[in-house]
Amino acid sequence: MLVVMKPHATVDEVQAVCDRIERLGYRPHPMPGAQRTAIGITGNQGAVEQDALAEMSGVAEVIKVSKPYKLVSRDVKEEDTVIRFPGTNATIGGRNIAVIAGPCSIESRKQAFAVAEKVAKAGAQFLRGGAYKPRTSPYAFQGMGEEGLRIMAEVRERFGLRIVTEALDNESLDLVEKYADMIQIGARNMQNYSLLKRAGRSKLPVLLKRGLSATLEELLMAAEYVMSEGNYQVALCERGIRTFTDHTRNTLDLSIVPAVQRLSHLPIVVDPSHGTGKRDKVLPLARAAVAVGCDGLIVEVHPAPDQALSDGAQSLYPEQFVQLMEECSRIAEVVHRRIPRGIEMSGIEVGGIELTAHEGAAFPAAR
Ligand code: PEP
Ligand code: MN
Repeated sequence: MLVVMKPHATVDEVQAVCDRIERLGYRPHPMPGAQRTAIGITGNQGAVEQDALAEMSGVAEVIKVSKPYKLVSRDVKEEDTVIRFPGTNATIGGRNIAVIAGPCSIESRKQAFAVAEKVAKAGAQFLRGGAYKPRTSPYAFQGMGEEGLRIMAEVRERFGLRIVTEALDNESLDLVEKYADMIQIGARNMQNYSLLKRAGRSKLPVLLKRGLSATLEELLMAAEYVMSEGNYQVALCERGIRTFTDHTRNTLDLSIVPAVQRLSHLPIVVDPSHGTGKRDKVLPLARAAVAVGCDGLIVEVHPAPDQALSDGAQSLYPEQFVQLMEECSRIAEVVHRRIPRGIEMSGIEVGGIELTAHEGAAFPAAR
């Protein structure tokens, strides 16, 4: 059920409807839009007493939502969701294409700083890096844990990059929340409903990766779990699905980008690294992702991929990432989008464009 308010409904009228929904025993989710506010209702098992709400002041109509997902749907919010990162110009969603780059795993302070410097210089606004790794083998490198998070927080201090990192369970989520700017929920956890609900109670935005064999509807329902707990800052991520092909690790399903954009207001990010598993295919698929209209790219980059403790075969060399930024920026223009270069904080640009004289000495501007 969805309550659509009149275009000029007042704040008090919206509040009164929310209060009434709560008194009926449900949860209201007001979603302000450019034209009007819609209020999603969750927590109901069957039909909601529609008449009580339809008669209220400021209400335009009460509509039944037939789709299984509500809050992720464009029916609730027509405008694209734009996730903002306080104190910076970084966004995910809207006209700009966000670029998240970095190693699969944080392996040491030295490695993290080396790669962060490279991706910041190339213009990325976000650093990715796992401190908690979901590995197929229990004997493979499992990540540095909290120490890895601390290193990433230092990287943010130094380069301004916003930090995106995975939480594997509720315990690691508590820590990720302390140090990072965005919580990644990995493909293997896309249907871990208790973790999704925990992420839904966080103040940080969530990057939700598509499960290894999840349908579009299952992905949207997973996002609905996060949103139903009150966290509306969710970005979806296509990272390839299991198919019979053996020339790549996964099959990057780029058609999901326009499919998501038709049904949902949430941004959709593409991961050509896990999507292909092979370094030589990352750049071509990144270009294709921008051409198809993605809202962001998440790419693995390593200063020495041959020595990487995880996913070296799909990690780009830093020079290849520079090429990716150049080429994708040009393609972005064709589809009326833009890849912002470097992060701006309180008027100071860090990374791709300009630095203060002091920092510039140690870290010269790329352009
Ligand atoms: C990752 O981003 O390093 C990762 C493990 O991704 P996924 O969950 O998509 O496999
Ligand atoms: Mn990886």
